[in-house]
Amino acid sequence: MRITLAELELHRIIASEDFASGMLDYRDTQFRQAAPLKIDVTAELLGGEIRIHGHLATRLETSCDRCLGAVEIPVSRDFDLFYRPLETIAKEVEVEIPADELEIGFYSGDGIELAEVATEQLFLSVPMKVVCRPECRGLCPGCGVNRNLVSCACSPSPEDSPFASLEGG
Ligand SMILES: [Zn+2]
Ligand SMILES: [Zn+2]
Repeated sequence: MRITLAELELHRIIASEDFASGMLDYRDTQFRQAAPLKIDVTAELLGGEIRIHGHLATRLETSCDRCLGAVEIPVSRDFDLFYRPLETIAKEVEVEIPADELEIGFYSGDGIELAEVATEQLFLSVPMKVVCRPECRGLCPGCGVNRNLVSCACSPSPEDSPFASLEGG
């Protein structure tokens, strides 16, 4: 659904929407949505900005960076966002946004798609590195077996050594 300025000028909007897997554009990330994404928001006009605050929840699925096994990541995120009209950038010579200011976004046209808010917040909740568990032993660089499941006969390779980079190969 779309949160429009015209409606916000009349009253604040309380909305929720479910996005089934495949409805949101994950671009080229490795993440897959493993459950419907539910977003609940309250939107209001506040000093010329659209404030959208609420919560989103879903589960993402990706693979472990070390062993390539499937990892499911529960996502539960609160957000409090302010959107300024995009035109203000063009009008003002300089828009100064203090670094510690709350999350500020921009909207153009007559409002904001809830799907945009959901996608943006999802990207922010995606971790940079994913491991199935902290002690994951990964794949053997010698023979490729999953060392969580099998212990192979390979001798520890130089890459295994924490000092590998210091030894200079
Ligand atoms: Zn793993
Ligand atoms: Zn091996």
